[in-house]
Amino acid sequence: MEIEVLSESKTLHRPLAEHPENPSRVDRVLSALKSSGLTWREISIRDTGLTLEEQLKIASRIHAKGYLDYIVRLSKSTPALIDEDTYVSQGSLELALATLTESYNLALHTGSTVLLISRPPGHHAGRGGRAMGASTQGFCILNNAAASVVGFTDRGFRKIAVLDFDAHHGNGTMEIFYREKILQIDLHEDPAVLYPHTGYPEEMGEGEGFGYKVNLVLPVGGGDDLYAELVERTRTLLEKYSPEALVVSAGFDAFLNDGLADLAATEITYYKLGLLIRSLSVPTVLVLEGGYGVGLERGLVSFIEGLMSARRKYTAKTTTLRALFRKAITDAERVLEKASRRVL
Ligand SMILES: [Zn+2]
Repeated sequence: MEIEVLSESKTLHRPLAEHPENPSRVDRVLSALKSSGLTWREISIRDTGLTLEEQLKIASRIHAKGYLDYIVRLSKSTPALIDEDTYVSQGSLELALATLTESYNLALHTGSTVLLISRPPGHHAGRGGRAMGASTQGFCILNNAAASVVGFTDRGFRKIAVLDFDAHHGNGTMEIFYREKILQIDLHEDPAVLYPHTGYPEEMGEGEGFGYKVNLVLPVGGGDDLYAELVERTRTLLEKYSPEALVVSAGFDAFLNDGLADLAATEITYYKLGLLIRSLSVPTVLVLEGGYGVGLERGLVSFIEGLMSARRKYTAKTTTLRALFRKAITDAERVLEKASRRVL
């Protein structure tokens, strides 16, 4: 597997005031990789090799023209706010477009597994901005995971799966492909308590896409024991489905005390997710979503160790409240069974 870092994500797209989504996230990731002896390739915006207009053309395959026009307009009068969570500063448009373009390009070319470390995150950005009735875009401007799906589609792949394990539901990505046969499995915290308040098990897609949207919900405090069960069931579905390509929205904010969610995953959970993705051995693009604290260090490193199949002996440290654990498994089994009937 390879790790690629978009250089300008360390400097561009800066909030005016204190904000969890800021350039220091990438510094944090890189120092964790460095301490673990991991290496990466650094590319720059100009390496995408496309003009802003050409990049906007790729973006227009995912987002509505009116929305893109609005973002371009906004980026001329920075600093600005898209909503109370999501800012646009000088350079935000350039960085968001380059991240999206690179997510697309990697899908077009990779024969193995590439992890793209860049910002801003994307999975809450829907076709026209806010998705599925969410109150904000949750720090996201353009949907990078969706761009990878389009890249794989352009390459001729028809069986594409998306795995999103950020603590928050990937409402933007799900909205974009809601009526399409793109298998999307999303593990996230209970939408009743956490933004974007979507991603209930009943949301299974529509039309052609019905059954292809699989929402696996973890209750507040969901820990390694519950993740182990859900990751195993995710493996079963993905192995049977046998996708030709995989896109992963890799967020690390479900890590215990990462800061913005109330889940309790530790190293072993991310390590197992890495092993699962490796075991599928299909072309895979992984894009960075959330993660604001310790998750970007310990979560990300153990995830990469899993992707590399490095020998590690992590143990489960956190457990889920018994009654909540049982309910989560029952809900997951119900939706997985319905999805299997439709998808397999
Ligand atoms: Zn998140």
